[in-house]
Amino acid sequence: MTDPTPTVACEGVSPLTGRTEPWMEDLLADPEQCAGLIREHGSPVNVLNLAPLARNAAELTDAARDEGVTLGVYVARKANKAFAVVKAADAAGLGIDVSSLAELRQCLELGVDAGRLIVTAAVKSDALLREAVAAGALISLDNGDEFADIVAVATDLAVTARVAPRMASADPHIAPTRFGLTPASWDAALQDAPAAVRLEGIHFHLNGYSAAERVVVLREALAWTDRLRETGHPIAFIDMGGGVPMTYLEDRAQWRAFWERLDVDRDDTLTWRGDRLGMTDPGAERPSAAVYPYWQRHVRGQWLRDILRAHTPDGTTVAEQLAARGLELRCEPGRSLLDGCGMTLASVAFRKASSDGIPLVGLHMNRTQVRSTSVDFMVDPRWVRPADAGAPSPAFEGFLVGAYCVEEELLTRRRLRFPDGVARGDIAAFVNTAGYLMHILESASHQLPLAVNVVRDGGDWVRDGIDSPAGSGTPTG
Ligand SMILES: *Cc1c(COP(=O)(O)O)cnc(C)c1O
Repeated sequence: MTDPTPTVACEGVSPLTGRTEPWMEDLLADPEQCAGLIREHGSPVNVLNLAPLARNAAELTDAARDEGVTLGVYVARKANKAFAVVKAADAAGLGIDVSSLAELRQCLELGVDAGRLIVTAAVKSDALLREAVAAGALISLDNGDEFADIVAVATDLAVTARVAPRMASADPHIAPTRFGLTPASWDAALQDAPAAVRLEGIHFHLNGYSAAERVVVLREALAWTDRLRETGHPIAFIDMGGGVPMTYLEDRAQWRAFWERLDVDRDDTLTWRGDRLGMTDPGAERPSAAVYPYWQRHVRGQWLRDILRAHTPDGTTVAEQLAARGLELRCEPGRSLLDGCGMTLASVAFRKASSDGIPLVGLHMNRTQVRSTSVDFMVDPRWVRPADAGAPSPAFEGFLVGAYCVEEELLTRRRLRFPDGVARGDIAAFVNTAGYLMHILESASHQLPLAVNVVRDGGDWVRDGIDSPAGSGTPTG
């Protein structure tokens, strides 16, 4: 981390300070550059620098190698739509997990080898299956009807489809899932599997971030691997999906303090009209199931090591079990690979107060532009004041609101403190937004345009190809 820069102060009333990368600090320290990006591309603007991606992936592959396991890393593209993610993944020798026809097509047109793709779309159209099978991409197989569709496509194209059945855990300790089928259901569905389809591996993906749950399901997958191999299927890998944790905050004490104030102190000044943010278990590391665990201790490499070193009932470790079978382990992280790769900048439109006197700062953006499925983005924005910003207000505490015409249009539901006031033309910088926060829920409601995505390219910021007028199906480079 570089030294803190002399940006204008902004923090939560109970602060949650975000981790940053040096490139972010460099940009935040240059208010005129921030203002220039918004002037050129509009507000908000998504700013991407994919330099940390390869480092994040290497943390995982290094940890696996130390345990004697070969790890294939597939970047979950749904976490960020920019072509820059595809290019950076490809350049780093990583695979890509695609979840729609557009995502698949763009990767192929950008020159990604189909052998480095896995198609995990939850519902697969005939067009998607045709393109995937024709290209030779691996398909995560969800159910028996989809299996029949793939057999039909492969037979029609006179090629072999490469598939990895998606395993739903039958273990009572694992939450029920709508995805995939249990091994027993698959064994029935796959009887007499035709030659047009080759089962190359086993795929699963779990909700949440628990290492212990991955150990349970990996053991199940190992046992199923043995059965599938006995019946002649060339299972070469187990793909454990995504959910690799990351931490947005440096400081556990800040994370604990926020929840303690919200719960023990019943401090209803912290959040919008005393919102409890879905809090269920204030003592837990993840006090609310509705909020992503913005602080986590064991992330990426350490988390994977925890899994691989876990013991199986016969006394060997998960790593040893994989190695003994010559199985490759694969994973599909989205968020944790994009850690450090993005920032969202938005300019201040107005300062005002609600009818009951709550200070508000209006930004030129809407809440879908910095939102994941978590009920709030629990990282304090950074604040930038360009030279041509107006006169700042006196110091105050208030909330950020956005452009959609609904009362609950909060950009963060936490009350923020502005010791240096707020000026028109100030810029709010949401840090570490590349994983999901830019794109997973963004909408063009009210016919407001989607945010432009710019990418660091050498010394310049250039528009990402996903925004090219030719449309998202036609990469231009
Ligand atoms: C969403 C998803 C991922 C990525 O999950 P992260 O939490 O971003 O790591 C990987 N695989 C599948 C099948 C998914 O649905």
